[in-house]
Amino acid sequence: MGHLLPFTRFIAALADTGGVDISVVTALPTVSEAEADHFAGLFATFPAIRRIDFNLLPFDEAAFAGTDPFLLRWESLRRSAHLLGPLIAGNTQRASAIVTDVTLASQLIPIAKDDLHLPCHILFSSCATMLSFLAYFPTYLDAASTNHLAGDVNIPGIGHVPVDYPPQVLRNPDSLFTKQFIANGRLIAEADGILVNTFDALEPDALAALRSGKVVPGFPPVFAIGPLKSTSTTGTDNTVVGASSTIAWLGEQPARSVVYVAFGNRSAAALEQIREIGAGLEASGCRFLWVVKTTVVDREDTAELTDVLEDGFLGRVQGRGLVTKEWVDQEAVLKHPAIGLYLSHCGWNSVTESVMYGVPMLAWPTLGDQRLIATVIRSGGFGQWMEHWSWEGNSVVSGVEIGEMVKQVMGDEAISTRAAKVREEATKAVAQGGSSYRNMQEFLATLKST
Ligand code: UDP
Ligand code: UDP
Repeated sequence: MGHLLPFTRFIAALADTGGVDISVVTALPTVSEAEADHFAGLFATFPAIRRIDFNLLPFDEAAFAGTDPFLLRWESLRRSAHLLGPLIAGNTQRASAIVTDVTLASQLIPIAKDDLHLPCHILFSSCATMLSFLAYFPTYLDAASTNHLAGDVNIPGIGHVPVDYPPQVLRNPDSLFTKQFIANGRLIAEADGILVNTFDALEPDALAALRSGKVVPGFPPVFAIGPLKSTSTTGTDNTVVGASSTIAWLGEQPARSVVYVAFGNRSAAALEQIREIGAGLEASGCRFLWVVKTTVVDREDTAELTDVLEDGFLGRVQGRGLVTKEWVDQEAVLKHPAIGLYLSHCGWNSVTESVMYGVPMLAWPTLGDQRLIATVIRSGGFGQWMEHWSWEGNSVVSGVEIGEMVKQVMGDEAISTRAAKVREEATKAVAQGGSSYRNMQEFLATLKST
């Protein structure tokens, strides 16, 4: 969902500009229920968008037992990518450009250039800081004569990145993710343009370093077009179970009194950690809305809340805490005036949503790009990053510590002032004449010139 949502939002933004003919290649079968729902919502809302089904070739997934099912799906997309040339060429409406996800960059850029003679753009689903890391990583590997993350990385124009900030799986040269990441990093400079769901005032240094060629000489144009949002006309984010009851509950809470707690659509915490989070929320004395996830794939989640929470917890917090396992309309939640803090795993979409609505963050990054993303929160000053918190390995953060930090950041005036300021900057960026607005116009102009 972290990749699909920015795409549906970008597609909605393109459709809203009018005059752009859009076809969406839809990879099938989907891994999660949430994905299937969002595709259905997108095509129902935009009947003019052409849907091109892309049935993935089977491959021997058993050889990768235990691998993240979403990563396996990327691998299967990459292994089926040679079918994309004929699929796109065979589409009745001749395409004039391709926009694809970074995880397909190394496969699709050569197909676009050599077979289809079309420009190929990447819509990058993480921050510009992560984009700099991806783009620079091959140079780092070559200079250090290694094939994996083996130490701190100095990115020209950005600075020192400690070894434990990038995705830790990059320490393993044999992992599928590492192989894909390096292949995509090597080819990304060949793209015709990179669209990023960020804005100039949020990541000025990373954007400047990328655009000036400091990170990688000759890097393609970077269009910062965020924060992307679901427009009220798209309905793509509204395929939500129980949405109205969550929002109705928020409507009964005082302004800025509720902590929203969610760790993205696929960050399942261990049972012990879930219980400590519960204890922390209870001890904080704050109101809270907590989305609990116990499995990586939603279709496999059969546990009841009462199976995962400590006995009696729901009764004790009744009235001041709402706990759910359902998909919530997170953007509607963060937009709600009752929300005063977001305790977050720091997925990039979640951060951009928090920024867009001026919600201060308590950052608890654990995996993948989340620590590099937390550096953006820290430098922006709109949240507190608990750098020593983790749930990797056997480590568990105590409820006592969680409760204290929630209380502290809820009352932190400096952070909430910065969050309000960043919201202002985000609003300005996407308004007519703002930086993201202009970048989107520039991107549209490149489409029309081809
Ligand atoms: N999301 C949502 N409801 C949920 C869980 C997630 O709307 O119950 C959305 C969230 O608003 C965000 C996306 O799913 O837009 C998750 O992407 P993100 O990059 O934040 O994290 P990921 O889940 O990919 O780790
Ligand atoms: N990523 C990348 N190149 C790749 C694969 C992933 O740059 O070949 C980025 C992608 O933007 C993602 C980040 O690496 O945001 C971390 O990937 P992870 O699998 O941890 O998270 P997810 O893909 O679920 O967002």
